[in-house]
Amino acid sequence: MVTDGTYAGEIARSGLPKGGSMKTFEQFQGLVREWARSRDILKLENTSRQIEKIQEELNELDNELFTGCLPAEWSKPQKVEKIMLEIGDLITAATTLACQLGYDVEECVTLTWAKIKDRKGKLVDGTFVKEDDLPLAWRH
Ligand SMILES: [Mg+2]
Repeated sequence: MVTDGTYAGEIARSGLPKGGSMKTFEQFQGLVREWARSRDILKLENTSRQIEKIQEELNELDNELFTGCLPAEWSKPQKVEKIMLEIGDLITAATTLACQLGYDVEECVTLTWAKIKDRKGKLVDGTFVKEDDLPLAWRH
């Protein structure tokens, strides 16, 4: 059973394609940008289609996790690769959107990390709710 994601990653790493691993986020973004540029995807008029692509990839990840599948199966090697691939698809689609808009994904995630790193809150029914959104009685 996957409890923190570490176990699943170990299984999948042994099966990753040789010579194709990403060393840095910058390298990944550069490869995605060039891939999208060479396919004429990096145009602002394609932005709404890219949002649809992100939604498609999120649905595919949701299906991989929850359609006919129990959490106990998420750590099985044949399932791990499929789930990891869908997570990668989602990150790649979001990275492509940032590139379309002319944004640097490292800066995007830096902004997000700065916003959440000290965030306080509570886990409510499996969702982390930031303190500002909690009922007053639940706040520290
Ligand atoms: Mg996909």
